[in-house]
Amino acid sequence: MTEAPQVLLAEGTIRARVDELARQISRDYAAAGDLLLVGVLRGCYIFLADLSRRLTVPRRIDFIAVSAYRGKAQTSPGAVRLLMDVRTDIAGRHVLLVEDIVDTGRTLRYLQGLFRARRPASLKTCALLRKPERLQNAIAVDYLGFDIPDAWVVGYGLDYRDRLRALPYIGTVEPDRWGEGEPRGGP
Ligand code: 5GP
Repeated sequence: MTEAPQVLLAEGTIRARVDELARQISRDYAAAGDLLLVGVLRGCYIFLADLSRRLTVPRRIDFIAVSAYRGKAQTSPGAVRLLMDVRTDIAGRHVLLVEDIVDTGRTLRYLQGLFRARRPASLKTCALLRKPERLQNAIAVDYLGFDIPDAWVVGYGLDYRDRLRALPYIGTVEPDRWGEGEPRGGP
């Protein structure tokens, strides 16, 4: 490890925003009866844990794992691959996809297509972070934590080469300092 990441979103800032999102989601789903939260592994795990504990509506949890394969150079986004599917039959259910970060939007577009084909009662998305400068297509995010600049972020579940996930804040790292070029890719 070399230099510590630069703080982008402090712990308290994240907590306050997750509280707001939970209140908003609880209001919107008050009449739904049942809500299925589908976390997109692995980066979502801390966000999903905090969000789900603050909801006041009945909810179930499931997970899906995808990998954004980006090729040898690791700089060109490639196809999204499904690594692990949900266990729940989502037909007729109110589904909320929970993502850590929307970068190009490919993962979300892929997941929305996959899930819509399964005929849920409703399908919405919640993302903690979004990088508007990187978005490749207009993609709906119904509940968004923060728009952030185009930098590699770590902490609060997000990794750099599978490290730094446990940081309580969200920080940025300078790829050169961490070796091996630009850190694009990996779930
Ligand atoms: P997208 O398909 O939107 O381009 O990429 C979404 C996925 O890329 C995220 O779920 C996450 O796994 C990864 N990702 C994109 N940007 C970052 C980042 O700044 N930090 C980390 N840790 N992962 C990122």
